[in-house]
Amino acid sequence: MDDLITLDEAIALVLERAVPLDAERVPLDQAAGRVLAESAHARTDLPPFPSSAMDGYAVRSGDTPGSLRVAGRIAAGRPAERPLEAGEAMAIATGGVVPAGADAVVPIEEVAELNGQVDVPDVPADAHVRPRAGDVREGDEILAAGTRLTPAHVGALAAAGIAEVTTTRHPRAAVLPTGTELRPPGVELRPGEIYEANGRLLAAALAQAGADVFKLDPVADDEAAHREALERALAEDLVVTSGGVSVGPHDLVRRVARELGVHEVFWRVAVKPGKPISFGVGGRTLLFGLPGNPVSTLVGFELFVRPALRALAGEREPGPRWQSGRLARAVRRNAHRDELVRARTGAEGLEPLGGQESHMIVRAAAADALVLVPRGRGEFGAGEPVRWLPLG
Ligand code: AMP
Ligand code: MG
Repeated sequence: MDDLITLDEAIALVLERAVPLDAERVPLDQAAGRVLAESAHARTDLPPFPSSAMDGYAVRSGDTPGSLRVAGRIAAGRPAERPLEAGEAMAIATGGVVPAGADAVVPIEEVAELNGQVDVPDVPADAHVRPRAGDVREGDEILAAGTRLTPAHVGALAAAGIAEVTTTRHPRAAVLPTGTELRPPGVELRPGEIYEANGRLLAAALAQAGADVFKLDPVADDEAAHREALERALAEDLVVTSGGVSVGPHDLVRRVARELGVHEVFWRVAVKPGKPISFGVGGRTLLFGLPGNPVSTLVGFELFVRPALRALAGEREPGPRWQSGRLARAVRRNAHRDELVRARTGAEGLEPLGGQESHMIVRAAAADALVLVPRGRGEFGAGEPVRWLPLG
């Protein structure tokens, strides 16, 4: 087992080589889900003016309590034409500019207007006034480089006057399933054939993670077919193959990749499932050779490919993003390899699912968590703290 590197070593070797892609300017309406390559700064104070938080009357707090003359009406986007004088109130809508001279707003529910006068109770200074720049000041950093933009971020950028952002371009990822036995779902299987699952799984996972996906047709276990397909795939930023990285005579991915100039960084990691994973670099392309068992593909994607994609996109903390939790039930440990156990999150903790073998993708698809059970002797007890990754 000495030739196996540890999971943490393997992840570090991947992340060392996954450097951010080029940046490009994009309009804000295409920015959600992309990663900022440069920090973004407010183009305006927000709010840009002292703004009313209520429908009511703008007043001078020093004039209250008292009966005030209604000297004007302020709507959102329609400021008063002159300052508020002593003894006056101005009706104001939520979002209206609190006029110069006023320092408070009294809500409409608290006053009665009659014959151009309002009776106003005692109002403290600053009541219901949103001060200029209370949220952010012009020039201040709103979001740091390396932030993946959520819808809330897009809203914040827009509110601060930003129309365009500099983001890393989308990673381009090729998917290549290998195996003579693979047939597309929907056709009749002949003896010995199975339906091709990993290419579909990987294409969906890559797209969901923000990559532009180039899905190649599965190749038979034949060197020429491997060479032709891999050569095309290696034009992308990242290639994920499935199958053909074990020790059998039909496992061709590593050999053909080497012939095409890929430098293998590691092969075989002390992890279960997915031990025979291969990782290499060809030119600027990262190549992940994931083992063919579908659960190995799923696990390999979460442990290595997703963090690499995040790093290519320039995210600050590419992961894997371990969460802390507790096992609801004891599990047997693997003596030599850290194990990623498929589980469901629940009130009692992380519940390991039945059917943990690496070909059981239908069982694994019921999981919403991958629990890391560290290698060791005996059992890993119920209630023990564990690290886990969300799935979905
Ligand atoms: P391999 O890593 O090529 O030795 O494949 C390991 C197991 O995974 C074998 O049972 C294969 O038939 C199966 N397998 C390989 N590729 C796929 C795929 N794309 N979809 C579903 N099963 C696969
Ligand atoms: Mg195979």
